[in-house]
Amino acid sequence: MTLDRLHILHPRLFDSFRFVYPVLSRRSHGLSIGVNLNPDKVCNFDCIYCQVDRTTESETRFVETDRLLEELDAGLELAVSGRIYEQEPFTQVPAPLRRLNDIAFSGDGEPTTYTNFDEIVAACAEVKRRHNLDDVKLVLITNASMFHRPHVERGLAILDANNGEIWAKLDAGTEAYYDRVERTRIPFRQVIDNIAIAARVRPLVIQSLFMNIEGEPAPDAEIDAFCDRLNEVVAGGGRISLVQVYTVARPPAESYVTPLSNDQVDAIVARVKDHTRLDAAGFYGVSP
Ligand code: SF4
Repeated sequence: MTLDRLHILHPRLFDSFRFVYPVLSRRSHGLSIGVNLNPDKVCNFDCIYCQVDRTTESETRFVETDRLLEELDAGLELAVSGRIYEQEPFTQVPAPLRRLNDIAFSGDGEPTTYTNFDEIVAACAEVKRRHNLDDVKLVLITNASMFHRPHVERGLAILDANNGEIWAKLDAGTEAYYDRVERTRIPFRQVIDNIAIAARVRPLVIQSLFMNIEGEPAPDAEIDAFCDRLNEVVAGGGRISLVQVYTVARPPAESYVTPLSNDQVDAIVARVKDHTRLDAAGFYGVSP
């Protein structure tokens, strides 16, 4: 298996685990222990590029908190002891990437829609503390649609206190393109406002997926509008530590969605840097 294949292998089941899944993460440059708060595969967005496999029924519908925490404890033990690298597919992880970077709340839907989001973040932070892993980040991978809810706001504050990092999705610059890509009833303005407010409290990482839709990439005007939205966040006192530009790497929800070429990803990164003065990094797609 090549490193590229290893990067796109995001198994939700690790041995008998149901809620915790270690992956080699390109964007983390190391091992990420994923925590799946949406085992029912339900999401409040319906992105045309979503790479969650919804063709099969989920095995587990509800989060079992005790079991999730036991799995996290066991997953951290495997990663810290290095015993994880004795198991497939992790035997093939190169030495420089054999480091535990983070525990990531992501999975098969939007993690902040989980009712007890603040409590589960606090409980996972406690497991991390017990393993003396202060340097390991707690990453939230989110579509930013629920930041205005009190229990999510509390969860974000708990992340802040535990070496947290928020990776907020923003895939569009205009409402029309957002509607085409995300297919949700949550207004674009809500997402932008949530990002702006959260970025005033702590720096955010913006994660942005661009793709070909029916063979066509997003027009330059859309990328410029996307840059305008980022500039608005910064002008309002928000901080953005990095813009991650990536493309499709696993089979998407819609067959008319295809990955950008490496050159196209590089061109968007250059345009974002030029139009915003923010730091930006590109992550290429992987050919099937
Ligand atoms: S927000 Fe994430 S999980 Fe939800 S549909 Fe979009 S890509 Fe899929």
